[in-house]
Amino acid sequence: MKRRILSLTLALLMALSVMAFPAAAYEDAKGDTQIETRGITVECPNCLISMSRETRPYGNIIQERFVCRQCGHKTSWNNV
Ligand SMILES: [Zn+2]
Repeated sequence: MKRRILSLTLALLMALSVMAFPAAAYEDAKGDTQIETRGITVECPNCLISMSRETRPYGNIIQERFVCRQCGHKTSWNNV
């Protein structure tokens, strides 16, 4: 009887790990997407180099803009 319970427990564990695997893969894919979103760069129209991203709190939302470190060109603030 004990042996039967043990094999049932093992089967349950295996079923759980099979179910957890696609979930983990999904989390990884989601993480990649977030990194890609964060990696969006905006080029300065004057210098054609990527500008630095700045953020500020605006009420209860966050705004972002891009600033060129070379010529000082700034985009307008956009809601994130
Ligand atoms: Zn520039």
